[in-house]
Amino acid sequence: MPGFELFSDLERNEVNDVLDNGVLMRYGFDGMRKGHWKAKELEAELATTFESNHVQLVSSGTAAVSVALASAGIGAGDEVIMPTFTFVASFEAIMMLGAIPVLVDIDDTLTLDPKAVEAAITPKTKAVMIVQMCGSMGNMDALSKICNNHNLVFIEDACQAIGGTYKGKPLGSIADLGCFSFDFVKTITCGEGGAVVTNNKAYYINADHFSDHGHDHVGNDRGAETHPFLGYNFRISELHAAVGLAQVRRLPEFINIQKRNFTILRNAIADVPGVTFRTVPEGGEESYAFLNFFMPNLELAQKVSEAFKTNGVDACWNYYHNNWHYIRKWNHLKDLKSLYPISSEVKEGLEYLQTKSFDQSDFYISRNISCLIKLSWTEEEVRARGSKMAQLIKAIN
Ligand SMILES: *Cc1c(COP(=O)(O)O)cnc(C)c1O
Repeated sequence: MPGFELFSDLERNEVNDVLDNGVLMRYGFDGMRKGHWKAKELEAELATTFESNHVQLVSSGTAAVSVALASAGIGAGDEVIMPTFTFVASFEAIMMLGAIPVLVDIDDTLTLDPKAVEAAITPKTKAVMIVQMCGSMGNMDALSKICNNHNLVFIEDACQAIGGTYKGKPLGSIADLGCFSFDFVKTITCGEGGAVVTNNKAYYINADHFSDHGHDHVGNDRGAETHPFLGYNFRISELHAAVGLAQVRRLPEFINIQKRNFTILRNAIADVPGVTFRTVPEGGEESYAFLNFFMPNLELAQKVSEAFKTNGVDACWNYYHNNWHYIRKWNHLKDLKSLYPISSEVKEGLEYLQTKSFDQSDFYISRNISCLIKLSWTEEEVRARGSKMAQLIKAIN
C-alpha cells in the first residue's frame, strides 16, 4: 500500500484506451463507446477477486459506505454500531442518512469488541459496521452470530484490508455488505473510487439505482429509464475505472510484496523486549498493509514514535493523538459542528459522546504504533529499516 507506488504502462494503456475512445461516462453512449465498458469490466474483476455475486462501483469509499447503508434501508433515527478507531468516513456516512452512529470499544484486534457490540444493542439498532483497520480484521464469527441473533444488518468496511482473508474468504465479502475504497493511498487505487460488494441481489439492485439518481438502468442508451426511488450521483468515471482495472489485476503481486516487507519488519522487532503485536483472529490472514505493534504504555509508545520520526523511519503513527482516525480528537463530531441543522433525534442520540469514556480503546490505541508497508521498498531497504527500528526501540527501553 499504496498501489500508486508501482504505476506502470498497464495503468497508462488502460487510461489511453478510454481517452482514445472518448466516452468518459460509465453509462449510456452505447454506440459511441464501441464496446468499451471499463467500469463494468472492473466490477466483473472485483466480483472474482472478492468472491461475491454482485459489485457496484461508486465514486469513493465514503460513498460505498453511504450506498451500502442506504441499500439496506438504514436511515432516520436508526442506530448503527461502529468502532472508536476508524476513519471519519464511518460516522459521516451514517449521519448523512440521518442515522445515529453508536461508537463502541475496540479490543486487541484493533476493531470491534464483540462484547462491546452486544452491550450497545437497543431496540433502535439496525446495523453493525465493522472496520477492518490497518490490514487486519475483527472476530467475524462472533460478530456474525450477534447480528444473526438480533436480526441486524452486518456491514464490513474493508477499505484498509484489500487482499486479506478470514477462514479463506476475502475480507469485505463476509458480512451482508462490504465496502472498499480505491482512493489515492489505498492498496488498489483509481485516484478516487470505491465499491459495494454483496451476495444479496436486492441490496445490489438498490445500490445500482441509488448511486445513479435512482435510474433503473433498464434498456439501452438510458432512453426509457424510470426512477423506482430517489437517489444521488455516486458514479465512478470510465477514466478512474480504467486505472483500477490495471491495478486489480496486479493485486496478487502487491500482496506478495506487502507480505515480504511486513514479515521482514515483524521479525526484526519481534524479540525486542516490550514489543507485542495485535491479535489476528484464528483463521485470519492479514493483507499486510500495515505492521501494528504495542509498547507497554503510552509514554514508551510516544518515545518510539518520536525516535522513529527523528531518525528517518517514516510512515509510522501513534493514533492516540491523531484527529482522523480516533475518537479522542473528533471534537467536530462531539460538538455537532454541522453546516446544516441536525435532527433533534440525532442530537439526542449523540449526547453520550459528551460523557462516555472509552478506556478499553484508549488502552490499545495509546500503546499502538502503526507502520505503513510500502510497495516500492527493495528488500535491502526493508532489512535496513527493520534493524533501525529494533535498535531505536531497544534504546528507549
Ligand atoms: C479510506 C477509508 C475510507 C474512505 O474512503 P474514501 O475513498 O477516501 O472516501 C473509509 N473507511 C476507511 C477505513 C478508510 O480507510
